[in-house]
Amino acid sequence: MIPYGRQKISSEDITAVTGTLYSDFLTQGPAVPEFESAILSCTKAAYGVAVNSGTSALHLACLALGVDTGDRVWTSPNTYVASANCARYCGAEVDFIDIDPETRNMSVPVLKSRLEAAEADGNLPAVVIPVHFAGQPCDMNEIAGLGERYGFRIIEDAAHALGATYLDSPVGACVYSDITVFSFHPVKMITTGEGGMAVTNDVTLADRMRLLRSHGINRNPAGGDPWRYTMTELGFNYRMTDIQAALGLSQLRHLDDFVKTRNKLAAYYDSALGDLPLSRPVLKPDRTCAWHLYVVNLVDGTHGLSRRQLYDAMIEAGVGVNVHYYPVYKQPYYRHRYGDTIKCMEAEHYYESALTLPLHPGLSREDQDHVVTVLHRLLN
Ligand SMILES: *Cc1c(COP(=O)(O)O)cnc(C)c1O
Repeated sequence: MIPYGRQKISSEDITAVTGTLYSDFLTQGPAVPEFESAILSCTKAAYGVAVNSGTSALHLACLALGVDTGDRVWTSPNTYVASANCARYCGAEVDFIDIDPETRNMSVPVLKSRLEAAEADGNLPAVVIPVHFAGQPCDMNEIAGLGERYGFRIIEDAAHALGATYLDSPVGACVYSDITVFSFHPVKMITTGEGGMAVTNDVTLADRMRLLRSHGINRNPAGGDPWRYTMTELGFNYRMTDIQAALGLSQLRHLDDFVKTRNKLAAYYDSALGDLPLSRPVLKPDRTCAWHLYVVNLVDGTHGLSRRQLYDAMIEAGVGVNVHYYPVYKQPYYRHRYGDTIKCMEAEHYYESALTLPLHPGLSREDQDHVVTVLHRLLN
């Protein structure tokens, strides 16, 4: 089966990891801060806090911004559940802003009208979490403008978008947000096995996330006995290991290549599938895409072939297609909490016909041609 996404591990990656295994530190050694610095030199933010998953990074970001019981957090329905769950961990209520059918990212006009209504009702969100779906950055300038107007803070969920750029700055520069969060799950742009990072330009937010990453313990209290440590808050163990950080450091050296390869593979699909009844996202000219996912949508002319039939036939032909994403608010957990009050028509419409094709830096031309041939056979 050709997977939809997969890590690409080099012999240098393996050497880096085994090197850590022979070293003094498996965790809390030198590799984690080195990895944080390396990510910062590529995203241009000032502070980075490496953690054990992207989900943990989202949770710490919400906590650092003071998200609490009774607060409201808004995100996109077209995302992985973690973008919404992080707010629930803090006791906040989540709402979902429908997508722009062209980019599949949070729609700015919808966000604007929802904010106008929320202002009138006195229930504005504390935090908005735009998600750079499939690796294309959201309209951050406009979202940041609305943040100033309506007083909400912004966390960019950039789990798909390490290596993308927006208005000439890297995603993760935090020009238009308080905190940007990355994931290093194996299908993402680079991997640490499991892992994530929150980056910010605000030292107070960074310090708070660092404190909460490690039990709320301050290692170096002023004065007192040298062996004592001070726990000032109920934090977590969200630490990344040195083993993971060493892999991340080594992987990061390949990031430019990975992004270039993903862009080439996407362009090849674009041209090879151009004559089929499939639509693709619109890419905006003032930003570049990291191409985490290559999604096509079935349009009229598929000879009655449904998305489910196409999915099954592709799997049968050894092509590991997938679907991203089932709108988060339709998950039983969210339905149970919010009933049927939430409806994002564009996200549902998009979901009904979406299919994710294999796209990852190790995808060979041979395998990609197989995907193209199978699609032609089924749709022509
Ligand atoms: C992968 C992902 C996450 C969570 O990252 P983990 O490292 O798996 O915890 C969050 N948001 C989005 C959009 C993702 O794709």
